[in-house]
Amino acid sequence: MRDALAPETEYKLIRSETPVWDDGFKVGEPTGEIECCGCGKSALNIDEIPHASDCPQRWAKTDFWRDRFLQK
Ligand SMILES: [Zn+2]
Repeated sequence: MRDALAPETEYKLIRSETPVWDDGFKVGEPTGEIECCGCGKSALNIDEIPHASDCPQRWAKTDFWRDRFLQK
């Protein structure tokens, strides 16, 4: 299965590293957070990622991302 957030998008889904009773997510289950591979910052919404000022992706907003998602 192809991941919706493929490597070329340069974002990755954060997966839980703690047991389900700790944060409500099983180990390895996506938490819904998205991490920017440019600066390592993360947020639940890609628009809200607090990119570093020198992040190469800080200009990258959701039109591109939504297009990918909606075309899935
Ligand atoms: Zn970034």
